[in-house]
Amino acid sequence: MEDTIVALATAMGEASIHIVRLSGPEARRIIDECFIPRSRERWLRHDNFTLTLGVFKDEDRILDEVLIGRMAAPNSFTGEDVYEINCHGGPFVAQRIVRTCLRHGAHHAEPGEFSKRAFLNGKLDLVQAEAIIDLITSKTETSANLALTQLSGGLTKIIIDLREKILEILAFIEAGIDFPEDDVETLDRKALANRLEEALSVTRDLLEGSKTGKILREGLLTVIVGRPNVGKSSLLNALLKEDRAIVTDIPGTTRDEIREYVSVGGILLQLVDTAGIWESKDIVERLGIERTWNALKSADLIILVIEANVQLSEDELYILETYSDKIITLVNKIDLLQNDKIDIPNIDYWIPFSVLLHKGFADLENEIKRRVYQGEIINSSDPLLSNTRQISSLEHSYAALQQAKNSLNSFMPWDILSIDIRQALQYISELTGHNVQESLLDDIFSRFCIGK
Ligand code: GDP
Repeated sequence: MEDTIVALATAMGEASIHIVRLSGPEARRIIDECFIPRSRERWLRHDNFTLTLGVFKDEDRILDEVLIGRMAAPNSFTGEDVYEINCHGGPFVAQRIVRTCLRHGAHHAEPGEFSKRAFLNGKLDLVQAEAIIDLITSKTETSANLALTQLSGGLTKIIIDLREKILEILAFIEAGIDFPEDDVETLDRKALANRLEEALSVTRDLLEGSKTGKILREGLLTVIVGRPNVGKSSLLNALLKEDRAIVTDIPGTTRDEIREYVSVGGILLQLVDTAGIWESKDIVERLGIERTWNALKSADLIILVIEANVQLSEDELYILETYSDKIITLVNKIDLLQNDKIDIPNIDYWIPFSVLLHKGFADLENEIKRRVYQGEIINSSDPLLSNTRQISSLEHSYAALQQAKNSLNSFMPWDILSIDIRQALQYISELTGHNVQESLLDDIFSRFCIGK
């Protein structure tokens, strides 16, 4: 961390301005060597969080007129001296400024290196660091809100409290190991069971919330299914508002699975269009149909498309029965009906639909929202864990706590309990970054872009 690092913080290409970011112990020297402020007097006051106008030069050549933002250590994003050079847009200007900083002793930053420094200097915890990635990559307003709440640290507080609880349990057990007197032990086992239950309950709540968190962030895996020609591809296209899937009149043309993201009522759907479910002799088609059956198993939501007044097939009845709790049925092509009478035996709830006339979309949106929020609107300002790595650490921690509870119930010796609790602690610490391997850190921060 001795190095001073520099990188372009904005996206490459033409823009009205670019920002070059410089951080580290030599940042101030480098700026002093390359920057001529318009008002020397003001610059020398060294006010923090101010912008100063001036020119950036290399040797005697002026590169650009710039505004420099100054954030002195430790009150900066990285915790080090940080300067942000706002220059004119256009990749050349910014690159020349970066190169000049390099010549004056800075190193080019790796992806995520600024954020990694922030983490190592205690400015961010891992949950917050990952929330930054999520914020940058969020695809809907709800997922951006979710990332913002995580960034504000509410979630971290809950997890750190949980970690404290587990630490206390460990201390409690270690004390028990030191004083294994019988009468004390019976009392202690009860107290310990209570504490364990408390930790388990907090973990359970977090995991429960994480299901919604994950859906808001990664999207609800939604499979559109139905027999050939009912309008699946047309529906997908209408949802995407662009022609990605091939729409034709020949049955069985959607052979390959297509995955697209679409935001429906603020909820991100990962849409999968599938080969229509039907009997086929063609080997490629049969493979596609088999994939459809597999997709149904892993789906969070199934949109079954049927046509009005057409007898349901064995396959459709089977799907309706097997996946009843995650199906929304659309009766498509109602525009073709002579009268309004739609008769669908075997199905309690269905939405009359016409992709052609754009009918039923609002009902579909409302139904999806209702399913996701299960009647109660979830506030994405609730701190919800949404990141797969974090959820997995928490699940492991939960399993270890559960194991400790089992050991306690079956009167295992205290040192066995202590092994379980240590394990639970290890997983929680990985989550917050209290105790984390260098390789994991590299892995996380390399997902950032350069300059972040
Ligand atoms: P898929 O095989 O289920 O993907 O069906 P397609 O999306 O390829 O649609 C098959 C045919 O039905 C196409 O000619 C579409 O234009 C037509 N189609 C789709 N939706 C509607 C609708 O709501 N009304 C009518 N009349 N035709 C539709």
